[in-house]
Amino acid sequence: MEVQDMHVVIIGAGIGGLSAGAILAKRGAMVTVLEAQDYPGGCAATFSRDGYRFDAGATVGCGFHPGGPMDELGKELEIVWPVKPEPVAWEYRDGNICLDLSTGRTEILERFPKTKVFWEEQSALARLLWKLAKGGLSWPVKGPRDLGELIRKGFAGLPASASLLKYASKTAYEWLATHDLHHDPEFLRFIDAQLLVSVQTTSQFANAVNAAIALDLPASGTWRIEGGMGSVASLLAGFIEKHDGVVLYRQKVIRIDSVRRQVIGLETSDGGAFAADFVLANMTHASLAMIEGTEPGLEPEKEKSQLWSAFTLYLGMDPGIFSNLPARHVQIVSRNGKLTEGDSIFVSISSDDEPDRAPEGLCAVTISTHAEPGRWFEALRQGQSVYRELKDACTQKVLDVLSEQFTGARDAVSTMDAGTPVTWERYTGRVNGCVGGYPQTSLFRVRGPATRYENLYLVGDSIFPGQSLPGVVTGARRTVELLRQQGSKGIA
Ligand SMILES: Cc1cc2nc3c(=O)[nH]c(=O)nc-3n(C[C@H](O)[C@H](O)[C@H](O)COP(=O)(O)OP(=O)(O)OC[C@H]3O[C@@H](n4cnc5c(N)ncnc54)[C@H](O)[C@@H]3O)c2cc1C
Repeated sequence: MEVQDMHVVIIGAGIGGLSAGAILAKRGAMVTVLEAQDYPGGCAATFSRDGYRFDAGATVGCGFHPGGPMDELGKELEIVWPVKPEPVAWEYRDGNICLDLSTGRTEILERFPKTKVFWEEQSALARLLWKLAKGGLSWPVKGPRDLGELIRKGFAGLPASASLLKYASKTAYEWLATHDLHHDPEFLRFIDAQLLVSVQTTSQFANAVNAAIALDLPASGTWRIEGGMGSVASLLAGFIEKHDGVVLYRQKVIRIDSVRRQVIGLETSDGGAFAADFVLANMTHASLAMIEGTEPGLEPEKEKSQLWSAFTLYLGMDPGIFSNLPARHVQIVSRNGKLTEGDSIFVSISSDDEPDRAPEGLCAVTISTHAEPGRWFEALRQGQSVYRELKDACTQKVLDVLSEQFTGARDAVSTMDAGTPVTWERYTGRVNGCVGGYPQTSLFRVRGPATRYENLYLVGDSIFPGQSLPGVVTGARRTVELLRQQGSKGIA
């Protein structure tokens, strides 16, 4: 079966589902997207509340640099992304350390001059990885065709590709140690804070290759997306609709019907039934298992590491307290130097030339911090008052950390809403509200798009290469390619 003869149903209008759907629609497939919420974007959505437009989770536009995954996707679909480069990606604050993270890394090098060689190595590695990722990555390898593709790309980059092997089995910490940088607590905390927001783990556990690309984000450039992050999802959904596809909202898929290894249909919570040649599930493995009615099963080693959820605050604020900031995003590490559960926060502020984001004279602020899901669900189990107490305590902690760097922050708040792991579970359908992707601890224990069904594949940040807009778009290309190969074998 050729792509143009396929009817593909996609569960979920996150960036993973929509980018795969848009590529397939462009190639002539009939695409139907079923989305549980009434707007697209999932973790990268922008929602309306009390006259504000808040980014739900993702706030930093990345991968739009020439040749980057978002740039390539835009070119392929002929979508002009409404993006503007940010002069400073974000500001990093830890006590009295204040660093602007920008393409030149000037302030990092001034503060940590001994790190120059490390950054040179990181840049070279990242350049190679961006090149390898161009057009998708056939990893994890599934059969001789993938291996051939990987070797072809690898040879094209030789001898540089060979140098990857040196890092592939190292942790970021071991890599830092080769430069004797692991003894510098300030630099280590800086690196850990960067890694936690990108690869979801710290240098002791993060794979060095994953770390190299994650640390490249401020250097390869970040972009502000007009109208908020959700504009990307809206444009992709619009593209699918323009190419004879449909995106149906308030359609929560609750059941997969299958015969042996073939999915034959999907059922939605309002009694709808959908048949498909192929299904793409924009969800985590655990969430897929829920609608299959199976247990997720014994998970590979990587699943034993901490899967994070998020605690988020959505604040309507007087922008005055942020007036001298050179960036729209600030990463703050609290005085106690810890990094999770409100001890480090990522603050994103809508810009004053985005009038649709907030009532006049105010701004929309999204703050996020990593949260351990277990204690939130345990609190909920103990009752609403325990859960509310935890929510209030976490809110106050985040506001304390914000106030450490921005005096008077509390007084500048005019509206406030909080999202907990429980909210994230309800909102994204992800079991335990596990958002942000998987901790990137190994290149070899990663999941690909294939499932036990011959005609159902995964897309999104639970498969390689994982989280972020460029990450899920790269993964979606791989899913589309596998689907094409499966179709050409005559399966479905
Ligand atoms: C707090 C936070 C901050 C982040 N910051 C950034 C950032 O600054 N930059 C960046 O690039 N990335 C960032 N990320 C990561 C990025 O947002 C995600 O990796 C990416 O958006 C995930 O997309 P996805 O397609 O995998 O899934 P999701 O965004 O989870 O989308 C899945 C969609 O499927 C729908 N769905 C699920 N189950 C069903 C069902 N049964 N039936 C119908 N619909 C269903 C959901 O409603 C959702 O819309 C951040 C993430 C978080 C949580």
